[in-house]
Amino acid sequence: MTDHQAPFVKTPTSAPGPGQADAGKANQGAGTEGPTQSSWAERAAQASPAMAQWFTLKEQVPDTLLLFRMGDFYELFYEDAHTAATALDIALTARGKHSDSPIPMCGVPFHSVDAYLRRLIQRGFRVALAEQTEKPSKGRKGPLPRSIVRILTPGTLTEDELLESARPNLLMALAPPPAHVQGQGGEWGVAWMDFSTGTVDVQSTTALGLDELLGRLKPAEIIIHDREALPAAWRPYAQAPDGGARGRRSALNAARARTTMAQAWHVHDAASLGAVTDNQAIACAMMLDYARMSQAGTLPRLAPPVVHREGHAMGLDSATRASLDLLEGRDGSTANTLFEALDNTLTAGGGRLLAERIANPLTYLATIQQRQRDWAWLAENDNLAEQVRAHLKGLPDASRALGRIASNRALPRDLAAIRDTLAALMALHVLLGRAPQTPWAAPEPALAARLASLHAMLAQALAEELPARATEDGVIASGFDVELDRLRTLRDDSQQAIMTMQAGLAERYGAPRLRVRHHSQLGHVIEVPAREGERLRAHPELHIRQGTANLARFSNQALDELNSTLAEAAELSTEREQGLVQKLVEAIMALEALPALIQNMAALDVAQSCAALARTGRWCIPELTEDASFDLRQCRHPVVERAMEGQRAKGGGGAPFTPNSCALPPTERVMLLTGPNMAGKSTFLRQNALAIIMAQAGLPVPALSARIGLVDRLFSRVGSADDLARGQSTFMVEMTETAALLNQAGPRSFVIVDELGRGTAPLDGLALARASLEALHDSIRARTIFATHFHALANLTAELPAMRPWAMKVREWEGQLVFQHEVAPGVAGRSWGIHVARLAGVPAPILERAQALLNQMQARRKPARTPHQPEHPPATWQAQGVGASDLFTNQATLSPTAESSRTGRTASGVKEASEMPPQASSVAEGGSLNPLAKPTFTLTLPTENASADTAPALRAFLKNPDPDSLSPRQAHALLYELGDLLKKPQ
Ligand code: ADP
Ligand code: MG
Repeated sequence: MTDHQAPFVKTPTSAPGPGQADAGKANQGAGTEGPTQSSWAERAAQASPAMAQWFTLKEQVPDTLLLFRMGDFYELFYEDAHTAATALDIALTARGKHSDSPIPMCGVPFHSVDAYLRRLIQRGFRVALAEQTEKPSKGRKGPLPRSIVRILTPGTLTEDELLESARPNLLMALAPPPAHVQGQGGEWGVAWMDFSTGTVDVQSTTALGLDELLGRLKPAEIIIHDREALPAAWRPYAQAPDGGARGRRSALNAARARTTMAQAWHVHDAASLGAVTDNQAIACAMMLDYARMSQAGTLPRLAPPVVHREGHAMGLDSATRASLDLLEGRDGSTANTLFEALDNTLTAGGGRLLAERIANPLTYLATIQQRQRDWAWLAENDNLAEQVRAHLKGLPDASRALGRIASNRALPRDLAAIRDTLAALMALHVLLGRAPQTPWAAPEPALAARLASLHAMLAQALAEELPARATEDGVIASGFDVELDRLRTLRDDSQQAIMTMQAGLAERYGAPRLRVRHHSQLGHVIEVPAREGERLRAHPELHIRQGTANLARFSNQALDELNSTLAEAAELSTEREQGLVQKLVEAIMALEALPALIQNMAALDVAQSCAALARTGRWCIPELTEDASFDLRQCRHPVVERAMEGQRAKGGGGAPFTPNSCALPPTERVMLLTGPNMAGKSTFLRQNALAIIMAQAGLPVPALSARIGLVDRLFSRVGSADDLARGQSTFMVEMTETAALLNQAGPRSFVIVDELGRGTAPLDGLALARASLEALHDSIRARTIFATHFHALANLTAELPAMRPWAMKVREWEGQLVFQHEVAPGVAGRSWGIHVARLAGVPAPILERAQALLNQMQARRKPARTPHQPEHPPATWQAQGVGASDLFTNQATLSPTAESSRTGRTASGVKEASEMPPQASSVAEGGSLNPLAKPTFTLTLPTENASADTAPALRAFLKNPDPDSLSPRQAHALLYELGDLLKKPQ
């Protein structure tokens, strides 16, 4: 039996994960206090009738919070009640008894349930809603029948209140490769859908690609048998295919899966949906089954599945995505992201499409160029673009409205959303149909006529002011339907009849304070003060209905008749109105072209958003090619630039962003970038990576010009990123990511590496950095920008002919460091650490002391050394590459002058880079040393005032110094102790 044929088994409960802190608990179901599985039926038999219903329903959804409708409340019982009371911070009470113990209970009012659902969903719970399926009626005995009408899970939501408007909300299913090819490049079947808009996508991927795909799509929920097969970060999103309900479905094989697909799309044979592999079909069917289960057996209308061929998407793994802040930053917000810098969309659908494109750059030239054409012509027709914007502005979220309409969950405002969208569509067709070279051709006349008639129907049918819920009266405008108007008149005109009746009764019984009033349970009644009530009791034609201390309520035959006429009219008018609403829903659903038209409008929105950027004149249409070229002129980092502009706008001053060019022709495809901290290295690296993403997403690029050979995979690696949250040592993370890069990158890839090897001892770090650089240059042959603090790597130009050293320009001016943020050929002479420390506000005495120590150390290293007389550098000051040269024993030890003359390629750049003060290169270049000899710490520390208990760790370290055994964190701590010592008066 292959894996996917295994019977559905509940996977272990999820570990609490990001945003899912409490979900683990929900998955325990009724838990300890509630009935165990074996006793469900037994318990139900002993319970009160309503509780018996609850037991029966709970058995269907043991791992889901069951919200059980009781009148105006949804109630939760047993462990569900405990969980929800804690999660929602509401009171836990008890309701009746079961087997002599009180039943724990909590409840939320039905009219505000959305807010509670939102909180539960956000905390990762699944929630089932059990509703009364019949209306209360007279003479009915026992509880109303109830059933589960919906299971809300993170991936199957449709409500705007529960969704983020700027992101798709995806449900994904994964079918693993057959067991015998697992781990050998076997392919996973992947299917995903956006339930809120009804789109479905199918693809295959290898295990390696799976991580990339997950990072790209960020599904809200993942259906998978074996959650352990997922990368750890995604396990909290995993859900068993049966959603925890037991024994509901039999095994799924490819044939059954294809049948499921055929049924979902109402086709005879799944083959007509496109060629899907067995695994793709199984993933798709798993997803459809799960979606259907969540909707209590029905599926909304779905767009036909889009089957993605591999090789059309650029590879971007999760480490790369995380380091580039494409759609969200590390804090999860969209502030300072690429999306934010690019987004000028006006509609929710446009925003989602733009996000999707940024997250999913292509490698397919034709599609990229089509997207470019779509906005380029708009950028040239500014007047037209403005008109387009006027039509798009303020439009409702039509895709999601349509999604709710398709899942029979339409709100009145969803119908209005379609009405307004149709109006905008028709106007845009008129506008763009006349425009030259428009990619948005007006539709066929027949379709155009259908759009117009649907719009007219909705415009006439919908009332001006719509109620919030579809079940409320007043959705349909008066004047639209004669019969509805008649029923409403009957219902409403009774007011006059009642007033007449009231006057008559008051006179007849001599009771001026008599009123005919409507009472929620009794219907219309005669109401008099209690004193008069005594007198009225004497009239046999009046039946007393209720007496309180203050009031007496009566009815008579005429009122009873009135009540039933009114109730009937109200019921009939509601029924009539619901029927009309249903007709509108059907008319909307019958227009099958609508989803595609709405999607087109989202694409138009993205196009105008791009055109708005291009209009500023500082963004270009990138030229994409099939070769390995890379040539950006005057490129900028859109996010950093925007942040700097924002600051200037606020009066914060500061210089404008400095553009930088970057050319990596095949003969110079590896750029080695050095420069002091804060000089702009990381910014430069990322701006090149972002330019590639923007270009291949079909978007404009913030540069004077850009020529980019299609990149198949983009890698961004940042040394020693702190990832304590994931519980991995920073260096381990760095190396894991580096390993993935070295295994996957190829000659069509683009790699940016920022400070590789920072997380370990300097010699290890340098060795690893050099080995990686060699691999990138020699065997991987990717276009590479390698920013490093190991300046000595620049000495490798002889061995690595396609590598060129570049440096960030800096100047020293009146003892201050000036960053020019300009990239020029050359090598940074020194690291300027003390200058940066000054900028950061380290107190002056410490800076002076550090400078003195630095001078001392440099003086000590001045005497000439031979390789056989190693001198050891001060261990904690090694960070900038001291000790590097041993790895380059084939190179002569470089003097600062030798270095700058060797790299003297272009006049201007070298001049700047080599205009460093005399001590500039001395720290960086160091002498030659023997890494095998145990280094000794040669710093003289101010010990006079230090008692035995100061700096204990530093002292312990100095007794037996072994810098290579220190973690970066330990080294840090030692530095702090050293700093404290320096601060003490001497
Ligand atoms: P590094 O990686 O060399 O330490 P960063 O790239 O982190 O330097 O840049 C440090 C700061 O310098 C940025 O936050 C930004 O404010 C500024 N900066 C970087 N590049 C530029 C540029 N091209 N033009 C203007 N300012 C820049
Ligand atoms: Mg940096």
